[in-house]
Amino acid sequence: MPIINRIAEFHADMKAWRHDIHAHPEMAFREHRTSDLVAKKLEEFGIEVARGLAGTGVVGTLRCGTSDRAIGLRADMDALPIREKTRSAHASTHDGVMHACGHDGHTTMLLGAARYLAETRNFDGVVHFIFQPAEENECGGQKMVEDGLFARFPVEAVYGMHNWPGVPVGSFGVRAGPIMAADDKFEITITSRGAHAAMPHLGDDPIVAAGALIGAIQTIVSRTANPQDEVVVSITQVHGGNTWNIVPEEVVLRGTCRYFKPELRKVLEDALLRVSQGVAAAHGVATAFSYYKPIPPAVNAEAPTKNAVRAAVMVAGDANVRRDVVPSMGCEDFGFMLAARPGCYIWIGNGPIVDGVGLHSSRYDFNDDILPLGASYWSKLVESVLPRSGGRPAV
Ligand SMILES: [Zn+2]
Ligand SMILES: [Zn+2]
Repeated sequence: MPIINRIAEFHADMKAWRHDIHAHPEMAFREHRTSDLVAKKLEEFGIEVARGLAGTGVVGTLRCGTSDRAIGLRADMDALPIREKTRSAHASTHDGVMHACGHDGHTTMLLGAARYLAETRNFDGVVHFIFQPAEENECGGQKMVEDGLFARFPVEAVYGMHNWPGVPVGSFGVRAGPIMAADDKFEITITSRGAHAAMPHLGDDPIVAAGALIGAIQTIVSRTANPQDEVVVSITQVHGGNTWNIVPEEVVLRGTCRYFKPELRKVLEDALLRVSQGVAAAHGVATAFSYYKPIPPAVNAEAPTKNAVRAAVMVAGDANVRRDVVPSMGCEDFGFMLAARPGCYIWIGNGPIVDGVGLHSSRYDFNDDILPLGASYWSKLVESVLPRSGGRPAV
C-alpha cells in the first residue's frame, strides 16, 4: 500500500499525539487543550497559525511556490458525552467525555499531513489546515463559516474526511452528490388543562394527544414525502407526567428529520406544523411548534470529488476506492462548509465493526493503523491538486 514513506516513519509520533488527544477529550467549544496542542504542533512545523475562529477553532496556513490557488483541509476536534468503556491505556481521563467518533484520529491525520507538507513543500499554492470545534450537535462548522473562515482564508475547494467503521482498512468510500443527510430538530409542546386521572372528562389529556400525534407523524414520510426521496422523521424524546393519578398539563415531544434534498426542509417543517395543529385541535389541546438547528446535507461537488478519488487511488489503489457508496442518513456539520464552498467529504475505512462497536459506542476506538493512510491521502490531495510545475507527488 503506497503510504508516503516519510509519513510511515513518523507513525509512532502520530500514535502518541492521537493517544494524548484521546486521553483528554473535550466537548463542543471547550476544546481548549486540544486547540492548544494543535496550534503548538503547527507552529513547531513552521506553519502560520490563526486562532479563535468559533472560539477554539484553529487554522494553519502553509504557502509554497508562487501560485495563489488555495484549498482547505478540515478536521474536527470535539468529543462526545459518553463514559468510555474501552480500558485501553489511552482511555479518557475526563469522566463522562470520550472520543467515540474518532475526531482524535481526524485531528492527528491532518497534523501528520501538515508536518509532512511543511517538511517537503512539494506543491505550489496555499493550504489551509482547518481544525474545527463542535462538530457534534453544536454546529461548530457553521460558526466557523459565520466567523469569516472563507473570507479570511479563501479557498477554491474544501475537503473533509471521516473514519468509517465497516469499511476495510486500506479502503476509501466516496460519491459525488449528497453523502451525508441534513439534520433538522423539532420540538412540539402540547399543553392542556390536565385533570384528575380518575376524572379525565373534567380536563384535556396531552398524553393521549401525544400518542395520536406520534402515530400521525409517521404518515409524513409515507404520505407527504415523495417515495423516491430518502426521508426519516424520528421522535426521539417524550417528556410528560410525574405520577399515577394526575393527567399532566404538558407533554413535550422532540425529534429529528433527515433527508438529502434541501427543498425538503420546508416540506417537512410545514407537514409537522400542520399535523401537530390538526391533531391538537382534534383533542382540544394547544400546541407550540419549533423547528431549529438545521444542518444542511453534505453534498460533494463533481470536480473536488474527482480530485479526492485520484488522491485516494494513489494511496489505496484503484480497487480499494469505492466511488458509489450509499449515502448515510447520519449527518455531518461539514455540510455547512460544503454549502459555502465546493468540496468533497470522503470516508476512510476504519476496519470491521466487531460486536456492534461503531461510531458513538462507549467501546469504540479510532484505528491507529489508518493514521498514515489518512495523512498520506491529505498529502497526495495537496500535491496533486496544487502541483509544482513539472513536479510530481512524492511516493
Ligand atoms: Zn459523531
Ligand atoms: Zn464524527
